[in-house]
Amino acid sequence: MRHAVIIVGAGLAGVALAHALHIAGHKPCVLEARPRWGGRILGMDGFDLGPSWVWPTLQPRLAAWISAHGLSCYEQYSAGALQFEDAGGRIHTHAAGIAQAPPSQRLAGGSESLLTPAPALQRTGMIITGHAVRALHLQNDGVEVITHTAAGAQRWRGQHVVLTLPPRLIAALEFMPALPATVHAQLTAIPTWMAGQTKVLVQYAAPFWRTEGYSGAAFSQRGPIGELHDATLPDGRAALTGFLAGPAMQRAAPTDLRREVVAQLHNLFGAAAMRPLAVHVQDWAAEPFTATPADRTVPRGHPHYAPFKLPEPWHQRVLLAGSEVAPEFGGYLEGALQAAAGAAAALMAT
Ligand SMILES: Cc1cc2nc3c(=O)[nH]c(=O)nc-3n(C[C@H](O)[C@H](O)[C@H](O)COP(=O)(O)OP(=O)(O)OC[C@H]3O[C@@H](n4cnc5c(N)ncnc54)[C@H](O)[C@@H]3O)c2cc1C
Repeated sequence: MRHAVIIVGAGLAGVALAHALHIAGHKPCVLEARPRWGGRILGMDGFDLGPSWVWPTLQPRLAAWISAHGLSCYEQYSAGALQFEDAGGRIHTHAAGIAQAPPSQRLAGGSESLLTPAPALQRTGMIITGHAVRALHLQNDGVEVITHTAAGAQRWRGQHVVLTLPPRLIAALEFMPALPATVHAQLTAIPTWMAGQTKVLVQYAAPFWRTEGYSGAAFSQRGPIGELHDATLPDGRAALTGFLAGPAMQRAAPTDLRREVVAQLHNLFGAAAMRPLAVHVQDWAAEPFTATPADRTVPRGHPHYAPFKLPEPWHQRVLLAGSEVAPEFGGYLEGALQAAAGAAAALMAT
């Protein structure tokens, strides 16, 4: 079947781009490898296992998206003391706590609420899940896109294709004609933001740390969690959430890890931490539609991201538009929206 625009990937960038084209009267086709949309946005009963924080006062596209879709934010809880655990497991309490300006915001309903247009896009047949794109074959009047599904290979034809997946995953696709080796190397060198991280969410019956004067925020040199925050929802369901320290390949097996996490929270917040309702572990480095083996080495600091154009003859048919190729806020949710807006403008100008 022939489409004017095929979008590869239904993360925030793919959903936002499809939404922009749809409201302008077009009917793009979004091919998504996973059985769900959202990409790195992943929720569980309103808790976030992927991104959690937005800064709408600094991020204009997110502010506009939040307002357009009737979403609301609340401030990251940070009242109370900050705990610091040194390499020997000794706890140092900083009564002044952790203050950010502007404070990080969380979305009511979790970051999944940013995907509000996705159900309607799927109902109208625009988002097609379970189709992993493997190859792009350039033709005179467009691009043939080959997907692999449980039922075998399928061929799609688009006048234009927009790739919203991380650049390292783009480099793994088969391009015919092949991309120059230098371009392949450039794409492979762009780290996927947070792809090497494991996020841990520990649910409790109540946010007991708050009543004891702790913010729930902690930093640790010992681990397994390196950075921890309060993730209690506005409806009172309590949780702490954090990122594991150290490279993905050095991490403990999940069962040991859960025990080690609870022992660490006991050390930080006392005996009440020994009775979690549940411990969830989301290892993004093990997700083939987010991370590559190279992402197991976590970059030091935030990488410099910038727009990326494929060379001709590809550029006239294939655009890149995921967060890692955004003009600003690359790697962040804001970057995904900026990249999508850029691709929408370029497509509508053709
Ligand atoms: C643990 C974690 C915490 C984070 N915290 C924050 C935060 O607090 N604030 C913030 O702003 N950002 C945060 N981020 C980053 C944020 O999640 C991303 O910037 C954003 O979600 C990227 O959206 P995207 O659409 O560009 O890419 P993705 O979400 O990666 O979407 C790409 C899509 O392409 C699909 N795909 C991949 N390969 C194929 C293929 N071959 N064929 C078809 N489809 C394919 C994927 O399944 C996915 O749905 C975090 C990320 C993680 C993992």
